[in-house]
Amino acid sequence: RAPGAALRLESLPIRDDLRGASPYGAPQLDVPCQLNTNENPHPPSPALVAEVTEAVRAAAADLNRYPDRDAVELRTELAAYLSRQTGVSLATENLWAANGSNEVLQQLLQVFGGPGRTALGFVPSYSMHPILVSGTQTRWLPTPRRDDFTVDAESAAAVVAEQRPDVVFVTSPNNPTGHSIGLDDLRTILDASPGIVIVDEAYAEFSAASSAVSLIDEYPSRVVVSRTMSKAFAFAGGRLGYLAAAPAVIEALLLVRLPYHLSVLTQVAARAALRHAEETLGSVAALVSERERVCEALAGYGYEVVPSDANFVLFGRFADADAGWRMFLDRGVLVRDVGIEAHLRTTIGLPEENDAFLAAAREIAATTL
Ligand code: PMP
Repeated sequence: RAPGAALRLESLPIRDDLRGASPYGAPQLDVPCQLNTNENPHPPSPALVAEVTEAVRAAAADLNRYPDRDAVELRTELAAYLSRQTGVSLATENLWAANGSNEVLQQLLQVFGGPGRTALGFVPSYSMHPILVSGTQTRWLPTPRRDDFTVDAESAAAVVAEQRPDVVFVTSPNNPTGHSIGLDDLRTILDASPGIVIVDEAYAEFSAASSAVSLIDEYPSRVVVSRTMSKAFAFAGGRLGYLAAAPAVIEALLLVRLPYHLSVLTQVAARAALRHAEETLGSVAALVSERERVCEALAGYGYEVVPSDANFVLFGRFADADAGWRMFLDRGVLVRDVGIEAHLRTTIGLPEENDAFLAAAREIAATTL
């Protein structure tokens, strides 16, 4: 028996707003087809594995020393990558990095949110946003999207102007629905916002839409663009998220970041992965064409398919989404019940995984649609 095991969570003096809460997390089940967390299914190339290994080996000789607190070399290389990817010329001072974009978002809320402050998001969207918001004791203002899950920029701007939130989240492409938002719609929301607008572009590489990075010079005090190496970059296990914003925003983040938050091992591994960016991102085009194949097949089986700009697809309509989720699991396919009535989300996997998913979807359609 573990020492202290008789103590129950309920009897600990935790904050009232954490009472009864459950931890975030998709089930991590050992199933042949894992299509539930929007990872890139292509493993790193042998050349990338070798380079990460060598970088970590070299760094291991200095593990008695703390890492560069400000991760300057990594941020410089992220700036170069993001400048190439978006066509907007960014400097090291425009970039910040942390352990996954979840930590980036948390640091932003620690600076711009907090007790007495509010954060607004257009729902349904990424379910960690409200969890990070409440974790920083910010008040959450969920604002519904249209029935087709798009954001109506005019009415969004009207709500923002009325509620005056300190932080607005705009996810583009949106998880779990897949839509991107255009720059003009973003400008409409930015013009109405008194505080900062975090554009969460975790899936940007899968989309042809322009990045909000191009708005930083126009709205330096308002726009922050969050990105991650977890999705297109096939580096989810490496935990590296980053953001681009005006240099003053990064100075503000230094006030809350833990000293040495990014380990030496993370920094050197991420830099090695960035050196292989072109090769890794070669898988994006293949995933996009698989996404189109999956969408067409699902529609052919009679599902309603929400158009997606990302590496996942939301589809329905199930009389009972939870029962549908179990039917996929029974067929060895783990998809995600994202809590949207009548819908499930599948991540685009390798062609053979998508085949297995589609075979299951076809059978399930025959009995439930
Ligand atoms: N934003 C969005 C919209 C996401 O879907 C995710 C991952 N599910 C994240 C941020 C966080 O990813 P990470 O912490 O791995 O960068």
